[in-house]
Amino acid sequence: KQLANQGIRNLQPYQAGKPIEELERELGIQGIVKLASNENPLGLSSKVRAALQETLSGLARYPDANGFYLKSKLAKKFGLDSAQLTLGNGSNDVLELVARTFVNAEHEVIFSQHAFVVYPLVTQAIGAKGIAVPAKDYGHDLDTMLAAITDKTRMIFVANPNNPTGTFLSSEALQSFISKVPENVLIILDEAYSEYVAEDERAPSFAWVAEYPNLIVTRTFSKAYGLAGLRAGYAVSHPDIADLMNRGRQPFNMNSLSLRAAEVALDDEDYLQQSVAVNAAGMEQLIAFCESAGLNYIPSHGNFLTIEVGDNAAELYQQLLHEGVIVRPVAGYELPRHLRVSIGLPEENEAFIRAMRKLLG
Ligand code: PMP
Repeated sequence: KQLANQGIRNLQPYQAGKPIEELERELGIQGIVKLASNENPLGLSSKVRAALQETLSGLARYPDANGFYLKSKLAKKFGLDSAQLTLGNGSNDVLELVARTFVNAEHEVIFSQHAFVVYPLVTQAIGAKGIAVPAKDYGHDLDTMLAAITDKTRMIFVANPNNPTGTFLSSEALQSFISKVPENVLIILDEAYSEYVAEDERAPSFAWVAEYPNLIVTRTFSKAYGLAGLRAGYAVSHPDIADLMNRGRQPFNMNSLSLRAAEVALDDEDYLQQSVAVNAAGMEQLIAFCESAGLNYIPSHGNFLTIEVGDNAAELYQQLLHEGVIVRPVAGYELPRHLRVSIGLPEENEAFIRAMRKLLG
């Protein structure tokens, strides 16, 4: 144990659930409904499935280390230059790469209370000091985050929408914040759930990158594009930042299947629209339940809803599990009275609602 750096020793192990099949065996339940990891309930799109099948024959060879086709497609779709892109084995990989490239043990890294678990993880793994700024109405308190900047601050994480609260910052608020952050402090704007936000509400974050060289925007294919198991994500930044990150990147961090799947998913507008529509309908379904049951919830712009269930949240989580529904306890995010429920298909949401009605009496 003494051999690991102090930051790693201070980390709690990532709380991954058991494989579903294992749980089903243990609990003696078939058909467990998993609403715990903000995955896409539609499953893999048929176009991606076909493309993966075609890719199998090439798997004895290494992947394209530079992700040439995926970068070209992303650049074309979003009006970027390929030199602004860094690809990751999921966006978690990119977040880790940013920290590894720019942060050292002398630095401080700022994030909000109730922030995504990977921010403190990558910060502490480097031995840097994480500064968690108290949230305002469950969301980022941008003024207090600005006030927390010191000479040691190297990086600030902002998730928009945020996980696990689903809170959302307007473009105006975000841009005002970004414009006030000193240039030697990097801002990581994590937009993992961006596609669920109405287009006219979304921040023009990729355009901002040209204006603010200290801004790095990250996106993922795990959510609205439905590729969580394949691992595909990317960062958009100033080319100099991308150049540095790409120097430290493992050359084959995206594999041939994830590269090809992401290329095809990017073009699959029908699937994307369906994802967003299913999510909007499921969100309404869950909100209607909360309101009828008199439960408070945090209004969410993501593909999940975080519900205030009360002091017995941990027990309720276990009871839901025994009813065959997995949700996410968020006590580790300083939300001990809440449970986070990912939006599923209508019948999956209904299974959650039915179980909750039964357990709440
Ligand atoms: N950022 C946020 C805010 C997330 O919630 C997630 C997924 N839970 C990620 C990044 C990482 O997703 P992935 O590594 O699958 O791209």
